[in-house]
Amino acid sequence: MELRKDPITRSWVITGDDSGLQPEELESCPYCPDAPHPPQVISSMPSVDGGPWSARAVVHPDALYHIEGDPLRQGNGLYDNMRPVGAHEVLVENPRHDRHLWVANDAEVTQFLILTGQRIQDLKKDRRFKYVTVFKNHGDVAGQEAVHPTSQITATTFVPRRVLYELRSGKDYFIQQERCVFCDILAQEEQQRVRVVEGSGDYIAVCPYAPRVPYETWILPRNHEASFERSVLRGSSARELAALLRRTLQRIRTITENFHMVLHSSPNTLHRSEVLDYWKTIDDDYHWHIEILPILEKKAKSYTFKEVYYTPVTSESAAARLKEVNLP
Ligand SMILES: [Zn+2]
Ligand SMILES: [Zn+2]
Ligand SMILES: [Zn+2]
Repeated sequence: MELRKDPITRSWVITGDDSGLQPEELESCPYCPDAPHPPQVISSMPSVDGGPWSARAVVHPDALYHIEGDPLRQGNGLYDNMRPVGAHEVLVENPRHDRHLWVANDAEVTQFLILTGQRIQDLKKDRRFKYVTVFKNHGDVAGQEAVHPTSQITATTFVPRRVLYELRSGKDYFIQQERCVFCDILAQEEQQRVRVVEGSGDYIAVCPYAPRVPYETWILPRNHEASFERSVLRGSSARELAALLRRTLQRIRTITENFHMVLHSSPNTLHRSEVLDYWKTIDDDYHWHIEILPILEKKAKSYTFKEVYYTPVTSESAAARLKEVNLP
């Protein structure tokens, strides 16, 4: 596996030749508390109902990014590449195999959110990492990997493209207006009330004005905050978010089983990059949010959302294969 930079959009992709091996058919769920061969545990949250734990982070069994070493970024003419140095963990949302975020209670979802905040905070201590992404793919069409309720977290040496666009736009808007674009959007949405799904305490769920997919929904803190982990690790706020997240997912599930969910939060400001070094307003110009992108089966083909494009065949192998095709 290696990371390659697209010289036009300046976004990174991860690519490498698939081994072609089919994933092993597992006899038992590796994420259940009684799993015979459980993955290595990184962090565990205490139980809320007398169970073994409430949520925990484990090493991803088939990690795209690996923690050891240096990215060894190198240029080759126009092209830049580097090793996929980073972290890739599974966030087990609940010890119970069928207790998804939309059926769990608020205390359980809160534990999952706090675990997520703690993992982000911990991964951001590593100065090599520029960005930490949390995402969930649910449903076959969405690329769900495990049956057990899980999300994933990655720490990367680059900022994923969609977030990069948002960060750049947020900064540009702030330079012009001296205000956060997300706060301005929220103010207008709260005034117009036509795209607000639900407001609950410090949080609000809205359908964005220019959605990429039908029923796209965002959850944002009402008051300005750039960092998700600061919000959820501070006082009572996580429980309100838990309730709104659970309810919003319940709504989405009346539309479709399949969805992507991704957290967009501020990048790692400890990272010594020139871009971030000059970026003194990041706490003012960015506003964290959760994006839920449902997949409607009939429309799945028109749908191209990806945080980081991942192609399991390199372009060299693809070209070689295509060249071999016998054309009439
Ligand atoms: Zn399980
Ligand atoms: Zn804001
Ligand atoms: Zn976003």
